[in-house]
Amino acid sequence: MYSIDINQYGSSVQCCVCVYDKMQALQAAQLDPEIKNKEDVNNNEQQLENKTNNCLPIKQQYVDDVDELAGSLQNVQLRESPQTLITCKICKMQQYCLSHAGADVDMPHRDMCLVLQELQQVLNISHPLLLHGAIKNAHQLHITTGQLKLALIVKLQRPLSPRENDLICYPAYCMVCYRLESLTACTACGGVAYCSGEHRQLDEVNHKSMCNSLRIYYNPYKLLSLEPEPIKTFYESLDLQSSHLVEAFHRATHLDVTSDPQSLKTLAGYQRFATCSSFSCIASICLALTHVHLECRPGKMVKIYIVGAGEEQLKYFEEMHLKFFFLQYHDVCILELFFVGQRLLPRSKKLIQFMFKGLQRTVIKQTYAMTFRQFTDTYYIHPTLLVLYHPDLAQMSTLTEQLADIQSDDHCWYNCLVSVLQAHGVPICYTSATKVQARSDYLALSVVADEYDINIKSVYNFTENPYRGILPQRNFSPNDSETLIYANNYLEVIFSNCILVSLNIN
Ligand SMILES: [Zn+2]
Ligand SMILES: [Zn+2]
Ligand SMILES: [Zn+2]
Ligand SMILES: [Zn+2]
Repeated sequence: MYSIDINQYGSSVQCCVCVYDKMQALQAAQLDPEIKNKEDVNNNEQQLENKTNNCLPIKQQYVDDVDELAGSLQNVQLRESPQTLITCKICKMQQYCLSHAGADVDMPHRDMCLVLQELQQVLNISHPLLLHGAIKNAHQLHITTGQLKLALIVKLQRPLSPRENDLICYPAYCMVCYRLESLTACTACGGVAYCSGEHRQLDEVNHKSMCNSLRIYYNPYKLLSLEPEPIKTFYESLDLQSSHLVEAFHRATHLDVTSDPQSLKTLAGYQRFATCSSFSCIASICLALTHVHLECRPGKMVKIYIVGAGEEQLKYFEEMHLKFFFLQYHDVCILELFFVGQRLLPRSKKLIQFMFKGLQRTVIKQTYAMTFRQFTDTYYIHPTLLVLYHPDLAQMSTLTEQLADIQSDDHCWYNCLVSVLQAHGVPICYTSATKVQARSDYLALSVVADEYDINIKSVYNFTENPYRGILPQRNFSPNDSETLIYANNYLEVIFSNCILVSLNIN
């Protein structure tokens, strides 16, 4: 059964109660014996083996049932004539539909609501966004939301949840005139709002480029803890340097991925999309390895160290992701993955063995709950590749938390970087969510390298990673021009000075 996490849902211009209700109906339908039986048929191993396609219509029907069952509240709300939003009387930031306005709803909203109420009283303003008078431009809005965010973190003494971040950083206002009341949401994405039809039209061209991505970001299925679609069969590899994630996924699995809004309205469609996105981490590794000369002999062993790893990263290295790896690197038979990070839970070695494309494959997954510095002090390492996913080397994204003196679980990278750069002869690959982040990560690396007389050379120079995730995320850093971002958006592979000779750099 899927659990619902309302904290994953953030639109400030949609009634969150409606979205929550819809997902609860979906959850209830999951328990319905009739539908449950169909699901059991789906889960039958033997049927799954050869009839993967037959599963889809059943799932499809199941979703349609639920949509009918739930009265598809979201669709009701987002029909042609958009509903005027009703603002929470206390904080003025959360919006509701007409039927849910004023209802005492059990939503994770109270904490934030009370702080914003206090703020309005102390400053004698009628809306939290009027901190510096009426909003007149984007710059002023960014400054205001940045300060509100800091105030909330200081008052709550904790980092904000994804939902709270969304409500503060992307509040409800007219995209054209910055009006704060009598707003209606975009009927397609439910991610932006307007004060009038006239202003909606004025912004049409500008909004068009973002609407579909916002629609995916605010997709209600995001609330469900969806498992990725299990993929058993893998077909073809391709030239990674001239392709991208969706194409590589399609060639590997023969499954279609589409961002078409109709398809993402179904659970199966959204799940497929999210599954494809989950291959971003392994595919980025595969791309980084194209810069390493791997000897072509069956039985080859590859050792990859994932530095600063967290629990969430482990789910991107399931058996299907590993098969994708062996598909691209057919001659590799032994893959050792070392996950090293303070936030990891201690656990034992995991050995995975399977036959794939005519060869016996062995994957050894090991996790070490410690910093990379502690790790290299204790163990001898011999990596093929070092990987850092979203390391935030300059600790940019936690700046607000640091200012507010909140303990965040990110550790200081300095000692780690020294160890990483001293692993001579090894390419280092890191990903960043934004260009600003990518540049500051590079700067942090250069500073440490300079100090230790190590020359570094970057391969990608802050170009977008073709194997970035496809599920859009929002950037919660105020003042950054990239508002929609993706996992592993930028990929950088760097080499330290002594190793350039033996590697094939394109
Ligand atoms: Zn509602
Ligand atoms: Zn409120
Ligand atoms: Zn307006
Ligand atoms: Zn839209």
